Amino acid sequence: MPREFRKCIQQLPGESFVSSFNQGSGKRVAVVGGGIIGCLTALYLHRLGASPIILEKGSAGRESSWAGAGILCPIHPWLYPDSFTHLVDGSLAMFPAMNAMVEQLSGLKTEWQTSGLLIPLFADDRIHHRDQALAWSKRFGWHVEELDSKQACKLEPTMSGHVGGALLWPDVGQVRNPRLLSAIKQALALCHVPMREQAEVIGVGKNGQGDVASVTLANGESVEVDAVLLAAGSWSGELARQIGLELPVEPVKGQIVLLRDEPGKVNHIIKHDDVYLVPRLDGHILVGASMERVGFEPGTTEAVVNNLLEATYRITPGLKDSKIIQQWMGFRPGSPDGMPYLGPVDGYPGLWVATGHYRNGVALAPGTADLMSRWIMGEEPKVDLSDFRVNRPAVNIDKVGFPTAA
Ligand SMILES: Cc1cc2nc3c(=O)[nH]c(=O)nc-3n(C[C@H](O)[C@H](O)[C@H](O)COP(=O)(O)OP(=O)(O)OC[C@H]3O[C@@H](n4cnc5c(N)ncnc54)[C@H](O)[C@@H]3O)c2cc1C
Repeated sequence: MPREFRKCIQQLPGESFVSSFNQGSGKRVAVVGGGIIGCLTALYLHRLGASPIILEKGSAGRESSWAGAGILCPIHPWLYPDSFTHLVDGSLAMFPAMNAMVEQLSGLKTEWQTSGLLIPLFADDRIHHRDQALAWSKRFGWHVEELDSKQACKLEPTMSGHVGGALLWPDVGQVRNPRLLSAIKQALALCHVPMREQAEVIGVGKNGQGDVASVTLANGESVEVDAVLLAAGSWSGELARQIGLELPVEPVKGQIVLLRDEPGKVNHIIKHDDVYLVPRLDGHILVGASMERVGFEPGTTEAVVNNLLEATYRITPGLKDSKIIQQWMGFRPGSPDGMPYLGPVDGYPGLWVATGHYRNGVALAPGTADLMSRWIMGEEPKVDLSDFRVNRPAVNIDKVGFPTAA
């Protein structure tokens, strides 16, 4: 991680987090969207002395931030520009302090753990990672090990004997999203940060000088504010259009199947071609996830679930007898180049954006919350964030951007 970025994302205090929070009598910031991005940024804003209010159209923490797998490493980071790795590195460096803070504040456990990430290599792989992955890891200092077939099967006994070898990143972590979100929500409540659910924002009002002055809710109510942070996940593109802004954020649906087996049956996150397995401590194994550009089409489908299961049994035949427990889906806030939009909106003083985190919103949450809260409170970022600016040209980057529409 570059030193400048380290400097700008100062770690949160280590001892009593509760006492470091003040009552927030300062800048009134309406945070639109109660997902991980909105909730965590509101918590950080509160810590900096602002008076945030979270406005959530449904129930907070129930959309993408609930549905995701919680892998704390991007899928194929070598396909992105370097600036993306710097943002990820910065954010992941903050994860331990953020996690300790919300666990301490809330009294709840998030099940954040270092389980490592393993990419098995087979002769007929569709996605060839090895060379790019090794080069990227070396450049950015991510510790990686090359395993032969025997070592890979020893680490993961359910693995197919056809595996030719594997790449292992032992330091990669994961978190149990719903638990993290519960802890953040509880921390917000205990810090008396107001959160209004069933409160859909439909407009942003300006004062005579053209500065943001209010938000309008679907029930006709107007809330007076000094600033607005648009963190509405997959709905951000729609809402942006409603307030006269072009933001190419669209939902990319992901389906997940939940298996259950003995704890320790799978030890690492296993990623192969388009499928990953994420083992939780209690024996649950998440198998994800599809990438579907089908708008806000709800529900899981038999075809996708079968594909995920077939891939699982091919990579790890030792899981054939695992119980299939549940299936669900979520809408990733997609962006054409796979990267988030972070920062102020030109020509719209007081309007800020933190959205489009796509496949990486949990990994990027601490960094986003830290950067955005400081920026909104008047502290300019000390790193170049131009690759994430709101008005960058929309270029669909093959492989990390939008999948082909159905
Ligand atoms: C299947 C799947 C797997 C994933 N796996 C991973 C992973 O392993 N690692 C990782 O880092 N990321 C992963 N992600 C991505 C990650 O979950 C998202 O990037 C992240 O949750 C986005 O957070 P958010 O707060 O922007 O959006 P959301 O969690 O969707 O929250 C946005 C909120 O805004 C609210 N809202 C929308 N419009 C309005 C409005 N007009 N007024 C008020 N409220 C509004 C919504 O109701 C919603 O609650 C995955 C996602 C999915 C779906």
